Amino acid sequence: MDAIEWIAEKFYREKDNWSSDLSPFEVLIATVLSQATNDKNSHLAFGNLKARIEITPEELSNVPTGLIEEVIRVGGLYHQKALKIKAISKALVGDKLTEIMGSEDGRKKLLSLPGVGNKTADVLLCFKGDRDVVPIDTHIKRVSSRVWGFVGGYDEVQRELHKLIAPKERKRAHIAMIRFGRKICRARGPLCEICSINMECLYYLSREAPSTDLHS
Ligand code: SF4
Repeated sequence: MDAIEWIAEKFYREKDNWSSDLSPFEVLIATVLSQATNDKNSHLAFGNLKARIEITPEELSNVPTGLIEEVIRVGGLYHQKALKIKAISKALVGDKLTEIMGSEDGRKKLLSLPGVGNKTADVLLCFKGDRDVVPIDTHIKRVSSRVWGFVGGYDEVQRELHKLIAPKERKRAHIAMIRFGRKICRARGPLCEICSINMECLYYLSREAPSTDLHS
């Protein structure tokens, strides 16, 4: 079993497939709320929003921005996020999201929405569009760089991962890599000594390699 298969096997949990009960539009709004904050606060912000306002483009484009700000405040950057949510909602009134998701160039159209970047578009396509893509978040970027030496921008890292992961395994790998990055391959203090894939990991092997500096 290679490193990516091992991560997917050991770190995937069905309960981390967080979008199962959400509509595509709700996933889009949840992803906006998750930007630049931790899971706990982004879930609280989404829960507050859902409890107070129906999460549809029609409803969110009609309510005052101040009300959105008030209910999502706990998630941080609430002013900017409320403005993004309003702008996205206005752009998607009339079931436009379904139309976009079903179109050939759906990703391009998603990226043209206000405040929607690569990760947000790919999360939506992966979880609600049945597209075989690996959305790249900060954990996946770090793990990919350490284990395989994949560096560069979003598209470069994704392209390399896509070569490594079979299309039908990509959603599972995305979910598992995030958990692996949180639990083992942590940003600070990765648990390399107990990591089962350390002998396949470029970062670990480069640390362990004996020095070739003859002057030291
Ligand atoms: S050996 Fe260390 S750096 Fe490599 S994948 Fe495991 S935890 Fe991450």
